Amino acid sequence: MDRPRFERLVAEAIESLPDDFKEKLDNVAVVVEDLPSPAEARRYGRGGGRLLGLYQGHPLTRRDSRYGMAFPDKITIYQHNVEAICGSDAEVREEVRRTVLHEIAHHFGLDDSRLHELGY
Ligand SMILES: [Zn+2]
Repeated sequence: MDRPRFERLVAEAIESLPDDFKEKLDNVAVVVEDLPSPAEARRYGRGGGRLLGLYQGHPLTRRDSRYGMAFPDKITIYQHNVEAICGSDAEVREEVRRTVLHEIAHHFGLDDSRLHELGY
């Protein structure tokens, strides 16, 4: 799948969020890269699994009055890793959606164990 098409799926996933969530997305950039760097894969890839997405930033729940000068949060979706576990474009769309929701949930302050409980 070419990059513009993949990026459209990411944009669609964000568009599909409930309005309440979209309004609360604050200072967060969502970007697509082919693969994590070896260091990122080592640091964040759990149990040798492929890293599909990565959230880096300051969750809304942890921001305080000093936050004003901070860089935007960044969510990265790794296109090659998503494609590697999907057998069709429809699966890619679903996996992109799931990954975007997962990383955005981190932006809202949910951690991985809580997300796991919720099925994400
Ligand atoms: Zn996570």
